[in-house]
Amino acid sequence: MFGFKKWRRKRLMKKPLPDEWKQILHQQVPYVQHLPPELEQKLNGLINIFVKEKSFEGCAGLEITDEIRITVAAQACILLLGIEDLSSFYEGLRSVLIYPETYVARVKSNRNSFFVEEGYQRRHGEAWSRGHVVLAWNEVQNGASDIHDGRNLVFHEFAHQLDYDYGATNEIESTGDESTFLSWGWVVGKEYNKLLEAIRKNQHTLIDEYGATNLAEFFAVVTESFFEQPRALKKKHPELYRQLQQFYQQDPATYLNS
Ligand SMILES: [Zn+2]
Repeated sequence: MFGFKKWRRKRLMKKPLPDEWKQILHQQVPYVQHLPPELEQKLNGLINIFVKEKSFEGCAGLEITDEIRITVAAQACILLLGIEDLSSFYEGLRSVLIYPETYVARVKSNRNSFFVEEGYQRRHGEAWSRGHVVLAWNEVQNGASDIHDGRNLVFHEFAHQLDYDYGATNEIESTGDESTFLSWGWVVGKEYNKLLEAIRKNQHTLIDEYGATNLAEFFAVVTESFFEQPRALKKKHPELYRQLQQFYQQDPATYLNS
């Protein structure tokens, strides 16, 4: 990374948020009120970097406001609160596209090598490997307003972005390899299989069933739980919690009581 970018990021980390932004932050993102003061201060700096470096585009006539920028940036940056090295900051992400509400997207799926199926799906959000995250503003607000339900669209989509940037789920073996006992890949793979098994048996699961879709969705869904229901996740899935704690370099169970 160029020295200038690093220097600018360091400066932005120290810059206080304007009062209007602080007000929006506390109104729209109640999660912030639970952060210890040093993490809240760090979050302010990360928000400065995010807003400076990532572009926002309104879709379907939506006008981008500070309220939208701050609400999205703050939640995206909560995932980064553990980082020490400012050289990695959603490097694969260029812009955030925001629709006013749940939108309809044309989808293609490669069922096999001979034909591509197309259709329409209602979407809340998606992360694209081409450098865009797409979000529905009403769902961003829904996710932010309840910080204990384990559902947060921004945490979910930005977990996908981290996965694209760093290949978080690349080394997960869903079959489990005991030679790497208690490693990231082994634990997450084992927990994914446990979720599939629980769903087969119609058992209630703390981890949202959508996580059973595939390993990438599992990682995004357990990220939502890790940040919004950390104590419950730690109690029911201690090994998974420990792995996520190492991945995110954070321990939300120490400050969030759910
Ligand atoms: Zn997803």
